[in-house]
This record gives sequence, structure tokens and C-alpha cells, in this order.
Amino acid sequence: MQFKNEKHDYPALFSGIDIDVPILNGQNKRYVNFDNAASTPPLSAVLESINEFAKYYSSVHRGNGYKSQLSTHVYEDARETVMKFVGADAGVHTCIFGKNTTEAINKLARRFPFTDQRRIVITTGMEHHSNDLPWRSVAEVIHVGLTPEGKLDEEKFDQALDKYSDQVALVAITGASNVTGFINPYYRLAEKSHKVGAKIALDCAQLAPHRKVDMLPVEDPAHLDYVTISAHKLYAPFGTGALIGLAETFSQGEPDLVGGGTVELVTLDDVIWTSPPDRDEAGSPNTIGAVALAAAINQLETIGMDAVAEHEAQLTAYTLEKFNQIEGIRIYGDKDPHGAPDRLGVIPFNIQGYSHFLAAAILGYEFGIGVRNGCFCAQPYVLHLLNITQDQSQDVQQQIRSGDRTKMPGFLRASFGLYNTTDEVDIFIGALNNIQSGKYEGQYTQDRASGDYSPQGWEPNFEEYFSITKMD
Ligand code: PMP
Repeated sequence: MQFKNEKHDYPALFSGIDIDVPILNGQNKRYVNFDNAASTPPLSAVLESINEFAKYYSSVHRGNGYKSQLSTHVYEDARETVMKFVGADAGVHTCIFGKNTTEAINKLARRFPFTDQRRIVITTGMEHHSNDLPWRSVAEVIHVGLTPEGKLDEEKFDQALDKYSDQVALVAITGASNVTGFINPYYRLAEKSHKVGAKIALDCAQLAPHRKVDMLPVEDPAHLDYVTISAHKLYAPFGTGALIGLAETFSQGEPDLVGGGTVELVTLDDVIWTSPPDRDEAGSPNTIGAVALAAAINQLETIGMDAVAEHEAQLTAYTLEKFNQIEGIRIYGDKDPHGAPDRLGVIPFNIQGYSHFLAAAILGYEFGIGVRNGCFCAQPYVLHLLNITQDQSQDVQQQIRSGDRTKMPGFLRASFGLYNTTDEVDIFIGALNNIQSGKYEGQYTQDRASGDYSPQGWEPNFEEYFSITKMD
């Protein structure tokens, strides 16, 4: 693969990004993965770390054996690495490992000390469902409105904060959108939130892989109280996420999951809970996942998050420039290439005359390009960006309730990772030009229940590529 304009050979750092996959005409194509906002491939350094560590893997916090001690040491070292990565202060913060951002936000929602006076969570209309639904079950939630292009309407945010100043407990907001790539002015929002006595939780699932996250010292009015991250979006897809936040929150109350590891003492009728973070990590932890995340962080820090951001901004600007030249491509959010340094490389779009379901299917089946389509677990936001009226939304809801998703509104999303190249963008643009001018071969039919299209004659043999039972 040639790397035009690219200063660094970032792809060489990754595993599995040079794979040929079958396409509909019976040939193979080098897979282009533009679905990094969903999940990312592993860094090779991550694979090496966990392979090496696997030899020493043993129980954590539960044994005096050497391997057990070593595993405990490595696990705690990984925790420290994660805390440093987000600028946490070991004196006031803790880092609780879990599965992913969704689990981390659910935990915070169940463990946050709401009071009778302060029971309101202010969030926004641009959140991933994982930073919206967990709050609905524990608090009164105010969704702050957006501008027509999909940015947070800060005036409305100020009004909400002002109106509920003595009732708002927490502002829960995304660092960056998984749909438009918009980055929220979170330090400013933090300062405003603290001024009325609220805390702020930043969903960094999208932000952390692409920008430096810094919680700042707690004395700083713009500090972040809680942040959440997912390793599978950070080139370490081994089932770990983290909630980093004020330790005092987790020093009180009963943990949301109880059991082994969470206690100091248990009698038949009493229990003394242990201190954070163990109090909130019930059961045996995913040590391998924590090692993987720490290894990815080490690699990203060696590269430097500024270099990561610069590379992705270049790719984004390049893509937007090309997109703007293709007739019939509608970009949502910001389409100005000059805005690339201030956003993530997440580009939502539609192709005129094509349902997003069909366009995504053609890209995958005929061009070997993986993008995501639909609503990206942010349905209210996508409906807003598509300017769907209340009546239209009611119709769609009715259809979905009857098991028909064929007309589900949505769009496609191309999202970049550090290893993507302008060559890949060129392949993508070529494919979009073909689709836009009707040049595709398959006879596609749509599945009523999922809305997905598949072409006639597509019979992949996955076993040829990977089979657990046939591994040597
Ligand atoms: N928040 C945002 C902004 C996301 O993009 C995602 C994942 N798409 C999540 C939360 C949930 O992350 P996870 O699936 O790792 O729990």
C-alpha cells in the first residue's frame, strides 16, 4: 500500500488492517475499515503485550503465589496508566475497570449520590443512548436542545442550568459525538456546571482515541469530575472499559454489583464494604483487557495525541474536500474541510436516491468497504439532523412496532482511525462515484425486520477465514 502525503507509517503499527476479503464478483479486495467509531482493530503492541503477559496470568488480589502477585502488580499498574492518560489525580480520583463505557456510565448512574434537593441530570440531544438511558432510570433528565446543524445550543444549556441551578446534580455530556464528530466545549460547560454546584461527567468513548483527555486538577473550576472510556475504541479490543472519577463517590453506599472482591468482612447477617476501586469491581477482573488497554495507551502516548489528531484532521479535510465534489452526497453536521482540526474524523452522509441501508450494503459487498449506517445508537440526534418531523417520527415508530424497519431513517457514517490513509479515502471516493452513477452489479433485496439489504448469490465461507474449531 502506498502512503501519499502521510508523514508516518501508522498502518505498520496495527494488526489485521491488510486483509483481503471476498466481494460479490468472486474476487478479493483489500478491506477498508471506516467504522472506527464503532470499534477499532488492535495495535500490534497490544497483541504482543497480552501474549507476553498471558504466560504470567493468574488471579488478581487473591493469592500469594508469585504469578498472582505479578498479575496483581500488572493490573494495578494498568490502572495507574489509565489514570495518568486522562490526567486523574491518585489523591482524589479512582479508576474502576469494567466492560465498556456503557457499563461505566450505568455504574455512575447507580452510584452517584443524588439527594432529594439535587435530582436533575442535564444532558443533551446529541448523546449516544449509553449516555442518556442510564440517567433516565435514576434521575429527572433534561435534554438540552441543539442547533440545526447538530451542535449543542449553549444558550439553551445556560438557560437549563440557570432554571434548575439548585436542583441539578450532574451534567452528563459527550466529549465528542459518535455521529457528527462535533467536540463539545466541555471545559467551559464544566466551569458553568461547577458554578451552580453540579458535577460533570464526560463520555469520552469517542474523544479519548483522538484527543488528549485531561481531567485537570480538582481546584481548577473547569475540571472534569468523571470520565468514561472504552478500550475497543482505543485499539485494544479485549473487553475493558474504565470509569475514572472522584473516589469519594465510590467510598459510600452499596456497590451496584456485589460479591467477591467488594468486601472487607462478611458475616451471615452483616457486611463491611471495602474501599474504591475494589468496592466497585465485583468478581474476578478482566486483567488481560486492562493490560491491553494500558499497552494501547503507552503506544498512543509514544505517538502523541497531538500527532494522532493532526493525522486524522488531514484525512477528514481531504475526505470532505472530495465529498464536496461529488454530486448527490449530502453531508450532515459540518462539511467545511477547514473545520477538520476542531472535530473528529466522523463523517455522516447520504447518497441521493439511495437508502442508507442499500448504499452501505453496496459499499460492503462490492467494494470491500466497511462503514456503518442507521442511527448509531443516537436516534434522537439522528432524527434531529435529518429534520424529521414529529408526525414522520410517529409513522416510523408505528412501522418499527409492527416489525418493519425498511424505512428507518438514517445515514451512513465514515469514521477514521489512526491507521487509515488517503489511499483508502481515494478507494472510498471511487466507490461512492460508482454508486452515485448507478454502477453496481448486485440484485439486492431488503430484509423487513432488520432493514438490511443483501445481494443474490452471496454465500460467504467464513470458515475459510477463521474457524475456532480448525485452529492449528
Ligand atoms: N458513548 C459514545 C459517544 C459512543 O460512541 C459509544 C459507542 N459507540 C458509547 C458511548 C458506548 O460505548 P460502548 O459500546 O463501548 O459501551
